[in-house]
Amino acid sequence: MAHPLHDAVRGSLDNCVKCTICETYCPVSAATPLFPGPKYVGPQAERFRGEGPSPDDSLTWCSSCGICTHVCPQGVKIAEINSIAKAEMAAERGIPLRDRLIARPTLAGRLGAPVAPLANRLARNRLVRAAVERAVGVHRRAALPTWAGRTFQSRTRLRRQPPGRPGERPAVVYFHGCAANYYETHTAEMAVRVLEMQGLDVIVPRQGCCGLPLQSNGLYPAARHYVRRLAGSLAPYARAGHDIVSTSTSCGLMLKREAREILDMEDDDDLRAVSGRMYDICEYLALMHERGELRTDLLTPLDMEVPYHAPCQLRGHGVGTPAMDLMRLIPGLRPRQVDAVCCGVAGTYGLKREKYDVAMAVGEPVFGQVRESGAELSVCDSETCRWHIAEATGVPSVHPVAMLHRSYGLG
Ligand code: SF4
Ligand code: SF4
Ligand code: SF4
Repeated sequence: MAHPLHDAVRGSLDNCVKCTICETYCPVSAATPLFPGPKYVGPQAERFRGEGPSPDDSLTWCSSCGICTHVCPQGVKIAEINSIAKAEMAAERGIPLRDRLIARPTLAGRLGAPVAPLANRLARNRLVRAAVERAVGVHRRAALPTWAGRTFQSRTRLRRQPPGRPGERPAVVYFHGCAANYYETHTAEMAVRVLEMQGLDVIVPRQGCCGLPLQSNGLYPAARHYVRRLAGSLAPYARAGHDIVSTSTSCGLMLKREAREILDMEDDDDLRAVSGRMYDICEYLALMHERGELRTDLLTPLDMEVPYHAPCQLRGHGVGTPAMDLMRLIPGLRPRQVDAVCCGVAGTYGLKREKYDVAMAVGEPVFGQVRESGAELSVCDSETCRWHIAEATGVPSVHPVAMLHRSYGLG
């Protein structure tokens, strides 16, 4: 069977000059001898994968954090090469039930939402977690989110303005992703309030999963189906001239770039329209600030120091660290960026029984700095990273918009 590595990714392969910079930065190969590193499993092994299966299993230890792609001076799309090769390997060998389940957070979200108090108690019960680990392979100590009960979508029906309807104020579309719909509804509410504070109307269309967990677990056909469905619901807004902002770094990146590159969906018109209008929320607010449109005059002092972890997926956006830029605008707030590349969880990687210890070892430099800061909370743009860091440190972790929300005196 011909290998599905498509042109955009394959085109980068021959640029590798074996400088080993990617090896130096890969957090997983530094944490375990089981993973020989990005150069070996990426461009080097890819030459032997032209037809048929991957030459060895070590590829499965790659967490898809994307750091190697970001640091490669030759533009080799190492993480993307690995993701595609992992998906092919999974398709050949069969995808375990555990990976099929954790790849569908909307299913868990829907099942748990109506019985949130019970679901939350079970998710924290040691005996239940031990049984789940044995039966399915989700590590008993892996961080799980807390169901909110009522979903963000059900609280926000009045925001379903049709695309292009002229309003009194400029309008932006909010893509909340599943995390903010089923679990961190407070993050979604804070994001909406902070955007409204800038004089924007916020439209929240019906929306589903972006397919990222499916893609990460090698379920490419299902992931493409999810992407098409979501892009189909957001595209009319993009075509009507609305920007789309997301509080989920990874899901936003999926729509901005990853689905086109990794799932080879470059030809999908709806996705192209959405990608061109997609912003991470901190990127969007920082751009508003550059244009002199951010309401900095309403920010009130917050006398505190907070450690900030820039999630791996943020590098994929190629926008620097806009959360740091925004937090520096808050009088008295002293954000300090954690000096470490990855917290280890990489979406669903750190949930897996066999990967959990590696994920914790990768994240230890982040956890140590958060603990040593003595801060009352830490800040991170990505939901799965927040849950992982909070579980490992015992220090609550919030999205950067929470700091703006607090400084604006919104609650
Ligand atoms: S950083 Fe890029 S060029 Fe250097 S070894 Fe890795 S893939 Fe090759
Ligand atoms: S994606 Fe991350 S874990 Fe995988 S090879 Fe690259 S740096 Fe290493
Ligand atoms: S990847 Fe995004 S949209 Fe998909 S399940 Fe996760 S939060 Fe939801």
